[in-house]
Amino acid sequence: MANLNNKTALVTGGSRGIGAAIARRLAADGARVAITYIRGADAAARVVKEIESAGGEAIAIHADAADAKAVTAAVEQTASTFGGLDILVNNAGILIPKPFEETTLEEMDLVIHTNLRGVLAATQAALRHLKAGGRIITIGSCVGERNMMPVLATYAATKGAVKMFTQSLSREVAPRGITVNNIQPGPIDTDNNPAAGDWAPPQIAITALKRFGHVNDVAAMVAFVAGPEASYITGASLTVDGGANA
Ligand code: NAD
Repeated sequence: MANLNNKTALVTGGSRGIGAAIARRLAADGARVAITYIRGADAAARVVKEIESAGGEAIAIHADAADAKAVTAAVEQTASTFGGLDILVNNAGILIPKPFEETTLEEMDLVIHTNLRGVLAATQAALRHLKAGGRIITIGSCVGERNMMPVLATYAATKGAVKMFTQSLSREVAPRGITVNNIQPGPIDTDNNPAAGDWAPPQIAITALKRFGHVNDVAAMVAFVAGPEASYITGASLTVDGGANA
């Protein structure tokens, strides 16, 4: 598949986990890819090297998703390096699992700034570059729609917010031929949420398939939505959750 030949994509938080899988998949489908990271410069460099070894083009940019200036600069650097931008994947996100009453304002700010404000800032910067056929794709969560677990109140609030942001923005930018979609993973095996972790059993229990998903399950959905066959999909929240919300 080379659906994305001559396209440029920026994936925030692409040094590991779901973001790294998305970066590799978009590159395999032909896109030039920029990834941002906040920690783990080595991991980010490895993702770039893997993409280059497979014949693709990639760069890694240090940019804190919670810092609107850094995010905007990362969009500009991507567009100037590769001569434009076609696809933004807002993937960077954090979770601080804690009972809401014990959550500090600083923790709330960090989650809101990374998962919501960063998405808004990156999207606004990307819209200055996107042309007809452009794609804004945000990685939300199945808990942005329905939640059966405690300790996720602030995180779920940000993921619900990106769902409504997606719906609202899709109507604003549709006349320009740009689509805006939200991919909502369920439990996916990553460093952040390991399938063998203490917290895995209750997550497995709420899925219909009774297992964690793989990062490539999410990357495949992103690749489809980024591609030309998804041109009639916009304002959608597409759930990849093993039936957690079924
Ligand atoms: P992860 O922690 O394994 O990877 C997150 C990536 O984002 C890393 O590359 C990290 O460096 C980067 N990152 C974190 N904070 C950042 C910041 N401030 N600035 C720039 N980069 C930053 O997480 P993951 O499990 O791969 O999650 C990726 C996305 O998927 C997140 O938005 C998360 O909310 C969402 N999600 C994950 C799951 C899951 O079960 N893994 C489920 C639903 C949604």
